[in-house]
Amino acid sequence: MNPRTQEKFIMTNPKLKLGRNSVGVGDRFAHQARAQLEACVKALEKGVEVVPVWNKSNREHTIIGSEPVSTRQAADAAVKTLHWKLPYYLDADHITLETVGRFLASCDFFTIDVADSISQPALPADIDSFIERHPELMGSIELDGADESFEITREILRGTACKFLAAVKKAGEVYRRIESEMSAGNFISEVSMDETDRAQSPVELLVILAAIADEGIPVQTIAPKFSGRFNKGVDYVGNVARFEREMALDVAAIAYAQKQYGLPADLKLSIHSGSDKFSIYPAIHAVMRRTGAGVHLKTAGTTWLEELIGLAEAGGEGLALAKEIYAEALAHREELCAPYANVIDIDPAKLPSAEDVRKWSSAQYTSALRHAEGDPHYNPSVRQLLHVGFKIAAKMGPRYLSLLEANEAVIARNVTENLFDRHIAPVFLGR
Ligand SMILES: [Zn+2]
Repeated sequence: MNPRTQEKFIMTNPKLKLGRNSVGVGDRFAHQARAQLEACVKALEKGVEVVPVWNKSNREHTIIGSEPVSTRQAADAAVKTLHWKLPYYLDADHITLETVGRFLASCDFFTIDVADSISQPALPADIDSFIERHPELMGSIELDGADESFEITREILRGTACKFLAAVKKAGEVYRRIESEMSAGNFISEVSMDETDRAQSPVELLVILAAIADEGIPVQTIAPKFSGRFNKGVDYVGNVARFEREMALDVAAIAYAQKQYGLPADLKLSIHSGSDKFSIYPAIHAVMRRTGAGVHLKTAGTTWLEELIGLAEAGGEGLALAKEIYAEALAHREELCAPYANVIDIDPAKLPSAEDVRKWSSAQYTSALRHAEGDPHYNPSVRQLLHVGFKIAAKMGPRYLSLLEANEAVIARNVTENLFDRHIAPVFLGR
């Protein structure tokens, strides 16, 4: 194959496949990979293939003091132990040109984050040539499967291009940096714009995808921002019917872009901060069933909470440590919450005092923390505080890790159950 044809081939038909169903999991302390993979094994036993992707961002590695190679080793070991034969990937989550370097040796999935460049106005010359290249984006656009059509005027196109072209150009720079080390086709690319203040419309998504194709990025997952609140580790806050409409239109926009621009045939939506969004899972499943589209559900972050639940459930030293972590997290609340201000909503008045928590039984601790729908003792403020409190456990170092190891069985059971019963089953199996 000549290089040009090969490039084109990688663009429409990437070598590494993510499949229709994939789940992003986070393993902050690199101790739960097997328990997480166990959830994908359970799905497979039910006849549904769900590809696991272990993701960890630069921010998490920095807070914990870990290196990407540790995530890789834990995932490889789990895959070997459980004889997992389907693909699995390691995701350098939310990387930029500045942070991508340390991930190159261990990852084969890169989430290129360009949210910070959105609204940085594009150069007028870039906007002009984009508009010239894309006459198809002007006028009335009908998307298959959508019951409305979109009127795009020159002004709308110009404004949208101005808003997103600089960000996509940035994504191209990061993509080519990765490509120069790993060569095309040896990694999966995702482009994420979820950590921004406003949801993108389907028209904006079309423009973004056209620009991504112009940059030659064989994007396999795209993470737009949806409307509503996607707080860490708690349920969706917003209008579910509106979310479902929005997701269906995004799916239609992706299908259009695949055909029009030769983007990868398996390109699909990536839903970030996807853990615990129980109220929208039926909507996600319905759109997938109706359209045949795939989804990458990034859960991340909540496995650490299952470790705490397991420790509390174990009682004794485990419960004592879980209480100590709560007390420390409460004392350092503001500092712990600062990096996550956009994605948590804690009501300080709902946080029990360290004194009260010290008297809690195993059941009191686990029912406050575990996100079981309908449990009157479930406390979302406690859950969100502990969600961002992993730094406390990281500081405890070997003391925390040795208790994880001593209580492996009870923790693993919680990790697998949470991932399979509360996430994989409703989204991918439809129950
Ligand atoms: Zn994200």
